[in-house]
Amino acid sequence: MTSSNPIHNIFWFRRDLRTEDNHALFQALHSGLPVKPIFIFDRQILDKLDNPKDRRVLFIHLALNRIKKQLQSLGSDLWVFYGNAGEIWESLLNSGNIRSVFTNKDYEPYALKRDNEISVLCKTKGVSFLQFKDQVIFECSEVVKDDGTPYTVYTPYSKRWKSQFKPEMLNPFPSESLTEFYLKDKALPLPTLEEMGFDHFDFEFPAITPDKDIIKAYEHQRDIPSVRGTTRMSVHLRFGTISIRKLAKTAMQLSEKYLNELIWREFYMQILWHFPRVVNESFKTKYDRIEWRNNPEEFDRWCKGETGYPIVDAGMRELLSTGFMHNRVRMIVASFLTKHLLIDWRWGEAWFARHLLDFELASNNGGWQWAAGSGVDAAPYFRVFNPHLQTLKFDPDALYIKHWIPEWNSLQYARPVVEHEVARKRCLEVYQKAVGPNSRI
Ligand SMILES: Cc1cc2nc3c(=O)[nH]c(=O)nc-3n(C[C@H](O)[C@H](O)[C@H](O)COP(=O)(O)OP(=O)(O)OC[C@H]3O[C@@H](n4cnc5c(N)ncnc54)[C@H](O)[C@@H]3O)c2cc1C
Repeated sequence: MTSSNPIHNIFWFRRDLRTEDNHALFQALHSGLPVKPIFIFDRQILDKLDNPKDRRVLFIHLALNRIKKQLQSLGSDLWVFYGNAGEIWESLLNSGNIRSVFTNKDYEPYALKRDNEISVLCKTKGVSFLQFKDQVIFECSEVVKDDGTPYTVYTPYSKRWKSQFKPEMLNPFPSESLTEFYLKDKALPLPTLEEMGFDHFDFEFPAITPDKDIIKAYEHQRDIPSVRGTTRMSVHLRFGTISIRKLAKTAMQLSEKYLNELIWREFYMQILWHFPRVVNESFKTKYDRIEWRNNPEEFDRWCKGETGYPIVDAGMRELLSTGFMHNRVRMIVASFLTKHLLIDWRWGEAWFARHLLDFELASNNGGWQWAAGSGVDAAPYFRVFNPHLQTLKFDPDALYIKHWIPEWNSLQYARPVVEHEVARKRCLEVYQKAVGPNSRI
């Protein structure tokens, strides 16, 4: 596979699918040896996806095609593999002419385990495995309290984040300026979606450049789901098609409110890093005593957007039809599932994980546990969103609702799955039984 290549270094793309301002790629291109860029479609991840029209896989495929074309225009290429990451590394390393592997850090539990195994494998073959910080401004334990313990409340975390921030942290790593150091060779074409068990379908690759006017007006428009008031950068941050340094720089120039949202992202990432148990259990463990109703028919109605609560149904239909849902509506539907229907937040989290194009473990888990009241810095359990009042406030002319529910206000539209006041009282009783009165713990 690689035996004809001279001694070289490998750069492994993962959630950093861009050639510009890419930290580990920059370090690799500086290393003095030709750099062979690779990507692995990891079957351990792909085999768990049961939807042949999974938007994430198509997104990655398109992003890789873009990179491949860029590299081919430089006389190099992108080597893309499909299989078990461990086995692919075994065969790559057996070629014997690799000096070092460069990659950007990934902090999710599965990735940490995989990278640990690959780094051990590299060591046994005498190859160094080098990792760099790229997808965040502050990682792991870089922003902690004076006593070294992690923050579990957002506001003090964000204050500390800002006080530790230095402008040079946004200096780019101009990997795009080192083009002559790529390995000059030709790779096979990308494996097709069909070869990997997925289908092609119409999909418009989302614009990568954030709209500056949206960021300027962000503070006033971000909560209105019927307008394009948020930047839709989440998918690009998820897959690294945009650099966080570039986006944070724009945020700092244009909107503190927007910067605060980028800090929420890092807040949840460091929570997952310090408390990986949140993947399976409530951060506040008392909340795992809640006696969820977990009614499958009601869950099904929620999934399909047929609860009879228009703002909830509009959001769930937006998700199914586009892979996106507005943040305000994510909060409303998550609260509705956990509090009105008393369905375990893990069910909703899994549904989002399956359908969101921007699915990101730390933010999704953080958002769900926030809504259920069980997470760090969460909504107190006795605050039960009233979907009707939320609609009056954020979609007063029902523009968002009408867009997603054509049969709204007709006899065809679903009857409410539960009456609001009944659901609110039931929720308070069940939560109180599990966590005690007025508990914030
Ligand atoms: C129940 C629930 C589940 C969520 N699941 C995800 C998820 O899987 N992936 C994901 O990226 N975000 C998730 N979020 C956070 C938020 O809803 C999305 O980041 C946001 O809607 C993406 O749209 P945008 O890029 O237009 O955001 P903008 O408003 O333009 O914000 C810019 C960026 O800031 C970050 N951000 C904004 N709000 C939040 C937040 N509340 N928490 C963390 N980061 C934030 C995102 O990276 C976002 O792209 C979830 C929120 C909730 C309530």
